[in-house]
Amino acid sequence: MNARQPLPQDAAQPSGDDRYLAVTHEVFNQPPALEDYNLFEQDKALQEAVAREGAAAATGDLKQFGALAGATETIELGFRANENKPVFNTHDRFGHRIDQVDFHPAYHQLMSLAMENGLHSSPWANPGSGAHVARAAKYYMHSQVEASHCCPITMTFAAIPSIRKQPELAAIWEAKILANNYDPRNLPDSEKQSVTIGMAMTEKQGGSDVRANTTRAYATGTEGPGQAYELVGHKWFVSAPMCDAFLVLAQTQSGLSCFLMPRWRPDGSKNPWQIQRLKNKMGNVANASSEAELRGALAWMVGEEGRGVPTIIEMVAMTRFDCMIGSSAGMRQAFAQASHHCHHRSAFGNRLSEQPLMQNVLADLALESEAALAYTMRVARSLDNQHLEHERLLARLATPVGKYWICKRTPNHAYEAMECIGGSGVMEDCIMPRLLRESPVNAIWEGSGNVQCLDTLRALQKEPDTLDAFFNEAAEARGSDARFDRFLAQLQNDFADISDVEYRARNLVDRLALLMQASLLLRNSDTAVADAFCASRLEHNGGLNYGNLPSGTNPAAIIKRATPVVG
Ligand SMILES: Cc1cc2nc3c(=O)[nH]c(=O)nc-3n(C[C@H](O)[C@H](O)[C@H](O)COP(=O)(O)OP(=O)(O)OC[C@H]3O[C@@H](n4cnc5c(N)ncnc54)[C@H](O)[C@@H]3O)c2cc1C
Repeated sequence: MNARQPLPQDAAQPSGDDRYLAVTHEVFNQPPALEDYNLFEQDKALQEAVAREGAAAATGDLKQFGALAGATETIELGFRANENKPVFNTHDRFGHRIDQVDFHPAYHQLMSLAMENGLHSSPWANPGSGAHVARAAKYYMHSQVEASHCCPITMTFAAIPSIRKQPELAAIWEAKILANNYDPRNLPDSEKQSVTIGMAMTEKQGGSDVRANTTRAYATGTEGPGQAYELVGHKWFVSAPMCDAFLVLAQTQSGLSCFLMPRWRPDGSKNPWQIQRLKNKMGNVANASSEAELRGALAWMVGEEGRGVPTIIEMVAMTRFDCMIGSSAGMRQAFAQASHHCHHRSAFGNRLSEQPLMQNVLADLALESEAALAYTMRVARSLDNQHLEHERLLARLATPVGKYWICKRTPNHAYEAMECIGGSGVMEDCIMPRLLRESPVNAIWEGSGNVQCLDTLRALQKEPDTLDAFFNEAAEARGSDARFDRFLAQLQNDFADISDVEYRARNLVDRLALLMQASLLLRNSDTAVADAFCASRLEHNGGLNYGNLPSGTNPAAIIKRATPVVG
């Protein structure tokens, strides 16, 4: 039909000039946007985990936060922050060196939301039963909106245990770190009530092997803990370089030591560390990561001289925990998008979510997501109960195991969820490309996969009781499923043989993670979830991709439990 001809009588009748435009088609068989829903109320597994792991008292607060995280306007902030990458300026227009990174206002709004809700502070400011669990639940929801700004939130949160190792520094910094407001101004910390903290360990010649660091620290007067030094060297990765201070590793005569390096000197002059350029990252793009040179930057020693790694490892343990939350969150959001889409989309005469093969894929994705959450929240409870020996030992082993496993499972999960959505899942106005690009980052930073497996072995070697704690905890599910019992016995047996253990470390760590996830699901989740997890993860089915749940499992129940209902 000629586009300028009037429309036939039976077509929709536009008014005015539109009546001369052809109506090409109706839009149908497309899902409504997944927005304006409550990320807490629409996540049964999360609600159960919060109650189970000791944070039931936070339910009201989490409901409120869930509504905020699912609001259209909040979701929009995530898109805008990522469409507008940070911009680095070395100098101002008069030629002064400023090392200023400018972020989009949406990034700042996300930072404000996070800090006003205590994502960087609450378990330290108000410790006690359920504090880490409640904070993890909030972080889990917030990270589903936008993950990259969570990097400085995590580092600020994680810095507290390390900084507390130097009480006189903690006395100056802690109150400002824990303040629940966000102040992005580039001013000396003495002029601010709220600060953010970054970390600078990695150098060009070595990231995992920080002992290869060449940055040197020179005492300005007296040497030792709490004393002032000047740092000379470089850092190959410094994320969130607009933080107010950084924990930095540098060498003294006694070896690698940890330092707190502020942006500004106490006299109000700019501390001489300079950003060379921003990293051109494939993921985590709303947040800046930089390369920097330290040109006599003033810094104060934190913890014992020559004990930099044990000092900063307190921070790293917390950032690794947050990687687990972040990757669990990525999987939750990916599943929610995929399942929501398939619920509203039909092909070949039926809803996608009701077609057997798609049900198998969706249910498998839901299992992975719930297992990751259950594991993460159990570790959160351990963090709340470090005074108990079992919990201390459990957290020591469960953190590298979980950081490795959960982060490692996320990229393929994101890709598979994207494929459930089909071509529209590849488009940048869908969150899936962002989730996919984000997904490898958690696995690589804060200790990559092999490094986590080696840390697991280190924990076993230094404190063999950690393995007993892990097995004792997992064995609480013994007797509830024969597949689980066989898996547990085989794994315990395999740990008896330590020949070749480094070569086999991934295999052992994989199975530790699966064992704990299965145990948690058997003890706490829906029967359909636990049964399908054991059937697909603890027994060999010959298939390696998602969509490999064997016959006899109940995908409809698993999908229903996990799918958010909107509207
Ligand atoms: C987006 C982004 C932001 C970052 N931000 C920061 C930051 O703010 N501050 C900071 O300090 N760092 C930061 N990093 C650096 C990050 O922590 C390192 O990249 C990471 O620790 C790995 O170090 P590397 O890149 O030097 O790799 P390498 O240490 O060279 O490791 C390469 C590979 O070898 C493996 N490997 C290492 N040792 C062994 C071994 N003994 N046996 C078997 N395999 C081994 C590792 O697992 C890894 O897979 C960031 C990285 C990224 C990607």
